[in-house]
Amino acid sequence: MGGRRRRHRIVSPKKRGPPKVFRCPICEGFPLRIIIAKDGHARVQCAYCGFSREDVHVNAGAEPIDVYSKLTAMEGS
Ligand SMILES: [Zn+2]
Repeated sequence: MGGRRRRHRIVSPKKRGPPKVFRCPICEGFPLRIIIAKDGHARVQCAYCGFSREDVHVNAGAEPIDVYSKLTAMEGS
């Protein structure tokens, strides 16, 4: 009794890193800032060329990658 087992703590070495960066579809050289509101209204901004979009809508809980793919679909023609 009392054999206390040592448990290996599962510690992931990876911290939650910085959010992934996506390249601006216009200048293609600068990480875009993607902000997603709770209602799925996303804002995209490039600090370099000034490109910005506020009319991207994704599902609530979507990830920046979803916004980005939508954005490139809108921009790329
Ligand atoms: Zn840009």
